[in-house]
This record gives sequence, structure tokens and C-alpha cells, in this order.
Amino acid sequence: MAKVYIAIGSNKGNRVRNVITALKKMEKGLTIKKISPFFTTPPEEGADGGFFINSVIEVETKLSPENLLIFLKEIEKGMGRKFPHKTGDKRTIDLDIILYGNKVIKTGVLIVPHPRYRKRYFVIYPLYEIAPLIKDPETGESISAIYRRLISNEDSKENR
Ligand code: ADP
Ligand code: MG
Repeated sequence: MAKVYIAIGSNKGNRVRNVITALKKMEKGLTIKKISPFFTTPPEEGADGGFFINSVIEVETKLSPENLLIFLKEIEKGMGRKFPHKTGDKRTIDLDIILYGNKVIKTGVLIVPHPRYRKRYFVIYPLYEIAPLIKDPETGESISAIYRRLISNEDSKENR
């Protein structure tokens, strides 16, 4: 079975409850192995709305990457996420596939490793908490190396 990392985010309504609801729904189609702490993060530039609750989970699943994406999209829809929408829109729940085993996938609907995760502190930090030694299959870099680089860049930004 594939070991998969999924990022969870919510910035609308009762965010903690939304994340827990999504965890319960996901358990129906996959096995949750690890759950990172929940983090409060400010919205990204351009994002509409308030703070996020973010978490990353490690799961095992028999679903193919494409079917896993469909499964996650169904949960997003079931929790009232509006489609279509823009990337910055407020969302009850956002479920992104960050890593799927060692697979590198680039199709019209699915890109894995997730194209922006390496620069997203709200993904890298919780991922680092549960899987620091995992390697990015595209770059060969460990999550802990990505995390350290991200932190040092953040530091140098503040010192500018
Ligand atoms: P975002 O997460 O960027 O705010 P959405 O959740 O609406 O936006 O995702 C937009 C589309 O991104 C999805 O419909 C899906 O087809 C595509 N996508 C590509 N790669 C991934 C991935 N690794 N995980 C989740 N969605 C992905
Ligand atoms: Mg998404």
C-alpha cells in the first residue's frame, strides 16, 4: 500500500471542527497513520478571509492517485466547498495530495509532489513534525532539509 501525505486546511466557519470532520470522512476510504499538530496560520497574500487551521496527515491507501483525488474532492464538496472557485477563496476544507509514495505525477488534473508545497511553511512545518526523514522523490531532498532552508529564508526576510 502506498504511503501518502495529505495537507488539510480550513479558513471558514469552525475550522477545528471542519478538520476533524474531514479526518472522520477520510477514514472511510483510507487508513490514517499519523496526524500532525494543528497549526494556526495567517492567510496567504491575496487569500480572502481569516486565519487557517492547517495539518498534515500520513495515510495508507489502496486508492490510485487519481481515485484518491476524486475521493478527496467528494469530501470537499460534501462539506460545502463551492465549485468553481478561485485559489484565494475562503474554504470550509481544502485537501491536497502532497506526496504519494515515490511517485512523480504530472497530468492535467494532478501534480504530485504538490507543485507549491516546498515553499509553503504551513505544509512543510506540519510535514516536518511527522515525517522529517522522508525524501522528496523529485529532488531527493529530505523534508528536514527543505524545512531548514525555508526557515533560514524566512529569517533573512525578517532581517532585510
Ligand atoms: P488550491 O488547493 O490550489 O487552493 P483547489 O483545491 O481548488 O485549489 O485545487 C485546484 C485543482 O488542483 C484541483 O481541482 C485538482 O485537480 C488540482 N490538483 C493538482 N495537483 C493536486 C494535488 N497534488 N492535490 C490536490 N489537487 C491537485
Ligand atoms: Mg486544493
